[in-house]
Amino acid sequence: MTSHRPVVLITGGSRGIGAAVAQLAAERGYDVAITYRAEHGAAEQVLAACRRAGAKAVACRGDVAVEADVIRLFDEAEEDLGPISHVVNNAGITGKSGKLAQTSAETIQACMDINVLGALWVAREAARRLPKSPGARTIVNISSVAATLGSPNEYVWYAASKGAIDSLTLGMAKELAPEGIRVNAVSPGMTKTEIHERSTQDAGRLERLRPNIPLGRIGEPEEIAEAVLFLMSDAAAYITGANIPVSGGR
Ligand code: NDP
Repeated sequence: MTSHRPVVLITGGSRGIGAAVAQLAAERGYDVAITYRAEHGAAEQVLAACRRAGAKAVACRGDVAVEADVIRLFDEAEEDLGPISHVVNNAGITGKSGKLAQTSAETIQACMDINVLGALWVAREAARRLPKSPGARTIVNISSVAATLGSPNEYVWYAASKGAIDSLTLGMAKELAPEGIRVNAVSPGMTKTEIHERSTQDAGRLERLRPNIPLGRIGEPEEIAEAVLFLMSDAAAYITGANIPVSGGR
């Protein structure tokens, strides 16, 4: 029996925000392909949750920074689930925090390779494939409020990588509008995920930063996922090229 559920591919869907998007998408009637890089069992848990919600779900392993991997990830997902209609361009890293002058070439290179080049390979593959898919089609790029705040003294290179995502969103939205494909971004503020735990080597940092968040708390991955699912839905049919901050007002 063929599935009539739309198919969403979510890069970096094994943990954090991507995993929350995958689970919410499954609950809202999508079949789900998640991609991940490292074998640590997290992808299996996300798949199980998606299947419990009634979705067909597959996990495809590959590095978004590698062009050939990205093409293969789309091929594998389409082989298992059929044409992809929605792409959530989410995989990303920060690297060790610090002032730019003291930051290693490896940290900057990895951030650019994954957050910028990786997002571009995924975006290009989406631009190639989505025009052939039936029904509503959308791309949601995961940026960061860092793109506009600049993250001085902590993550200037990361902020710059997310600035690229904002430009990518604007350009793609206009380029793909004639095909009926909507392209938007969600810019999370500080959200409770492992990226965040890994980047907060300094245990007191969260408490110091909390007063900068008008709503006075860190966000939950599920709260980011709600904005992503809204942009994917027909309720957002007239929205393209938008960038929604989900940051507690930061
Ligand atoms: P996590 O570290 O919790 O999860 C990152 C996900 O990306 C994992 O699934 C990981 O896979 C995957 N990933 C990382 N590198 C690669 C790669 N090279 N190829 C394929 N997959 C990869 O991060 P978050 O959920 O916090 O972040 C998701 C997105 O949200 C990122 O783009 C991040 O910049 C953005 N964001 C996050 C904020 C936050 O405070 N959490 C704030 C603003 C933006 P694996 O499990 O295999 O490692």
